[in-house]
Amino acid sequence: MIERFFHAESSTHTYLIIRGNECVIIDPVLDDVDQYSDLIKAQNLKLAYAIDTHIHADHITALGELRERHGCITVMGEQSQAACVSQPIRCDDVIEFADLKIKALFTPGHTDDSYCYYMEMDSMKYLFTGDTLLINGCGRTDFQNGSSADLYASLFTTLRKHDSKTIVLPAHDYNGKLQSTLGHEFENNPRLNFSNREEFIEFMDNLNLPDPKLMDVAVTANKNCGIS
Ligand code: FE
Repeated sequence: MIERFFHAESSTHTYLIIRGNECVIIDPVLDDVDQYSDLIKAQNLKLAYAIDTHIHADHITALGELRERHGCITVMGEQSQAACVSQPIRCDDVIEFADLKIKALFTPGHTDDSYCYYMEMDSMKYLFTGDTLLINGCGRTDFQNGSSADLYASLFTTLRKHDSKTIVLPAHDYNGKLQSTLGHEFENNPRLNFSNREEFIEFMDNLNLPDPKLMDVAVTANKNCGIS
């Protein structure tokens, strides 16, 4: 099963995948670490891995704190260059826990270290998309070495080849949406419905968004797994 936590201040969705007596957490937020730990202890679970889809700019990660508390393996993409990570991941690497396999897909664009994670469980297919693909949107590409051209390739080459029924579980949602499918997004998401690549790039390169409030603090802290 997949438990979801929501950090309202940054609109972050955190996912705890539970299988038997093991679990894996994706994109945990330091502010909410007690909630995760309480559930893990209450259900007598072993936290095998804590994964960040990328270096976040809007909240501080709980990776380091969870490793302290639960002895889990911490995972980020090798491109994150976070020395605190115990397992730098590369494209197509597979994380195994219980009887499940979680496959890492390198999907740069929002940042140059962004990964999505694909998993099959009980004949359902899941894609944890980080900020690469959001419901009815996609991550911005204007900082942390983001690239709209890379994001286009990640969306239309790497993600699109997956089954349209795959459930999309993003790292953020700002509109109260919980989940979608790849098929629904490729049909309805306005960011996936430009008439060509150049239009997508032109649009993404001219969003002119303000920087996230916590950006300077969070990026520095997150390169150290959130441990100050
Ligand atoms: Fe992000």
